[in-house]
Amino acid sequence: MSSQNIRIFPEKLNLRVAPQRTEWYLGRMEIETTFVCVFCFQVNNTLVDGSGGRTQEYTEDCQVCCRPNVLHVTVDSSLEEASVEASAP
Ligand SMILES: [Zn+2]
Repeated sequence: MSSQNIRIFPEKLNLRVAPQRTEWYLGRMEIETTFVCVFCFQVNNTLVDGSGGRTQEYTEDCQVCCRPNVLHVTVDSSLEEASVEASAP
């Protein structure tokens, strides 16, 4: 995790971020993780498809303010953890 938002808002993250966990679902590896919205700074839960590649980039709307965040996803070599950095489109 190297997002600048995490350093800026440690108090929110300490309260809200749950440990990452991995679930197998219908043959796909879904990694539950979080990102911090670049617009409203709320923590969003998101599912990363671990079978989609070690690095992924896609747009997901914030669950709070509905504005689009571009997510830069890096899947760990164990395929059990993923780190997500959000940026503005
Ligand atoms: Zn937002």
